[in-house]
Amino acid sequence: MELMYKSTRDQGDFITSSEAIIKGLSDYGGLFVPTNIPKIHKEIDKLIDFNYKELALYILKKFLTDFKEKDLIDCIEKAYDDKFDTEEIAPVCKKGENFFLELYHGPTLAFKDMALSILPHLLKSALKKNKITKEVVILTATSGDTGKAALEGFANVEGIKIIVFFPKEGVSDIQKRQMITQKGDNTYVIGIEGNFDDAQNAVKEIFNNEVYNQLLNKNNYILSSANSINIGRLIPQIVYYFYAYLKMIKSKSIKKGEKINVVVPTGNFGNILAAYYAKEMGFPINKLICASNENNVLYDFIKTGIYDKNRSFKITSSPSMDILISSNLERLLYYISGKNEEVVLDLMNDLKVDGKYEIGDNMRIKMKDFYGGFASQLQTSNCIKEVYDNFKYVIDPHTAVAYSVYKTYKNETKDITKTVIVSTASPFKFTNSVCSSIGINVEGKDDFQLIDELSKECEINIPKGIEDLKNRKVFHKDICKKEEIKDAINRFLKV
Ligand SMILES: *Cc1c(COP(=O)(O)O)cnc(C)c1O
Repeated sequence: MELMYKSTRDQGDFITSSEAIIKGLSDYGGLFVPTNIPKIHKEIDKLIDFNYKELALYILKKFLTDFKEKDLIDCIEKAYDDKFDTEEIAPVCKKGENFFLELYHGPTLAFKDMALSILPHLLKSALKKNKITKEVVILTATSGDTGKAALEGFANVEGIKIIVFFPKEGVSDIQKRQMITQKGDNTYVIGIEGNFDDAQNAVKEIFNNEVYNQLLNKNNYILSSANSINIGRLIPQIVYYFYAYLKMIKSKSIKKGEKINVVVPTGNFGNILAAYYAKEMGFPINKLICASNENNVLYDFIKTGIYDKNRSFKITSSPSMDILISSNLERLLYYISGKNEEVVLDLMNDLKVDGKYEIGDNMRIKMKDFYGGFASQLQTSNCIKEVYDNFKYVIDPHTAVAYSVYKTYKNETKDITKTVIVSTASPFKFTNSVCSSIGINVEGKDDFQLIDELSKECEINIPKGIEDLKNRKVFHKDICKKEEIKDAINRFLKV
């Protein structure tokens, strides 16, 4: 049976998964969601020996029902190949009582690769299936990691152009360097004077600007998105939760059917939403632990039911989580409101007008499996040191936020359920904070020198993706104000 997709904010049309991937965002600003979440039925025995690609096919087939199986296989083969530095794709690493799910073995060293290595292939296949001959323009706002992962995925893909906006002051040296050295005639990278929310809002506004979309259409372009507002980003992320679980059964760390917790360092709420989908599919998750940094809007929301972005924006050592508007929360609101588009629309209007909304007890009760916590800068740094001292294992600041929140959770609840800590980035991507946390002197050294020092001190090889980063040529030097984004796009597209 075909699984259809619809908007979170209006009754609107029901569309297929391939159409939802092409459109990215619905016409009236809502996000696409599957009309129901497919279930797994007592199939764990059957899945236990699946490798990552086989498991990906199993999950994708359930959600992307209008794709032919052979097309999905083709997309999966192209995505999860030797771009990843381990055949496992997403290894689970046990340190003490902690299970770290390492999602950073892809080409850009962050978990965004898990979905963005497959999205371009899904999109291409979707375009073909829907007989769309217009050129697709991918517009993406990035807090640092999405941008490079999307560029890497879409560079030189025929029939698609990609434009990435990053907050000029909000990304690490290495993240920035990765982006501005991107090759490919179809790529364009621009720094924005503002923070991630400014960049994301500007991009969303362009999506919703009908007049501008018509202008692009006239010039034979259509817009799409590589941000996690695209459902094609979310679904491939469900796979690794299953994969980790099956691995833990295989290594006899847990018994079949035993529940686990997941701790997810959270920004735009995409990664943890994929875990929620996994849980709704029937996968045995106990608690979904949402870890924030000092931009702790989600922590407050989970505690009080009030989402309030009216607060100062903090630049932290975990920049990919420096976000005050978590877009994917809208999808959760849709489900916990009992799929009530009117409620979601009202809440989103409140957010737009007042920067704030509140949900009722009827909705809060459906979030009882979520636990929210946050880590301060100091706690984050201390956790990097603690994990290194205890296990000689180096984690990045995002993962450290998750680890810290997990510690708080354990202290508070005494819950001894086995827990997966989602590791979202390689420590080599954030060398300054990692090195200073574990006691390497960083004074007067740039991030690139620190790559070498970290490698020497901790006896780990420098990942391929950043080896020669320092010497790569810079291709993208443009900076613009957020009001000038449209002009920048027009220049690149020559419209
Ligand atoms: C994007 C990102 C996050 C946040 O993930 P969301 O899906 O936006 O919640 C966390 N850590 C790293 C390293 C990231 O790149």
